[in-house]
Amino acid sequence: MPAKLLDGRIMAEEVEQKLKARVTALQGKGITPGLAVILVGDDPASQTYVHNKENSCARLGIFSRTFRLPSGISQDELHSAIRAANADVSIHGVLVQLPLPRHLSEKRALELILPQKDVDGFHDINAGRLMRGQEGIVACTPKGALYMLTNTGITIAGKEAVIVGRSNIVGKPMAMLLLRENATVTVCHSQTVHLAEHTRRADILVAAIGKPKLITASMVKEGAVVIDVGINRVDGKLCGDVDFEAVSEKASFITPVPGGVGKMTVAMLMDSTVTAAETAG
Ligand code: NAD
Repeated sequence: MPAKLLDGRIMAEEVEQKLKARVTALQGKGITPGLAVILVGDDPASQTYVHNKENSCARLGIFSRTFRLPSGISQDELHSAIRAANADVSIHGVLVQLPLPRHLSEKRALELILPQKDVDGFHDINAGRLMRGQEGIVACTPKGALYMLTNTGITIAGKEAVIVGRSNIVGKPMAMLLLRENATVTVCHSQTVHLAEHTRRADILVAAIGKPKLITASMVKEGAVVIDVGINRVDGKLCGDVDFEAVSEKASFITPVPGGVGKMTVAMLMDSTVTAAETAG
């Protein structure tokens, strides 16, 4: 039987509806949630992502301010923009759109964002809190992937979860979230030997690799839940890291690309921004 679709478009819309009510409640107390996005240079993909974030803010009644900085700026000039956003009381969330031009240090920039305004969840303090199982701001993409599982009522506790990819923004926080939900977690990466032997054990398989259709049907267990985080462009079309057509025949649930985890990422950014505003109160 073909897999059921975990539809990011529908779930993101549901999240937005709930967020609208929370924004209205905040406005009733005289608070408008605010998001500052710092964009350096003119990378077309980054421009698109920032545009999507601005649109989401506008739909939800969240104030948004984008600092558009030229690609040649110095680290100090970048830090000045971050400090300005940190100090602005009308701003509850601050993010630096990645990647930065090569001459700029992402690490130094991210560490300057106040942890309570770090709505991307990339600050060491928030990453550390997640690792310790403490409350903190969680990176938007893994947070969205987890939402898709829990919102669908998929049992995580006691399940074998295999994550392919170990980046700081997706693979590692995803592993921590699934561990927190009591899955037995395996993290695979580019040096993993016999990748398929691991993926075939997965009840929940998360692909966050960046290689089109690397996960084939023979690598997936019958009935597995498959979360495809990958976004790849092949012949001008978007596809994930999973061979969607073939894997759909084996999986019980699967996320599409586009229309899957990507939709949830922006919705979770909005959620984290509204939560930051509620917390700042
Ligand atoms: P990354 O390049 O930082 O990490 C990729 C990971 O894949 C690495 O840990 C690497 O070890 C592993 N890997 C590479 N080749 C492998 C192989 N042959 N076998 C096993 N593991 C292998 O990438 P990232 O930032 O984590 O992003 C991963 C993918 O997710 C990309 O396609 C990216 O565009 C996408 N992404 C999507 C969203 C979203 O909103 N849906 C957000 C962030 C990233």
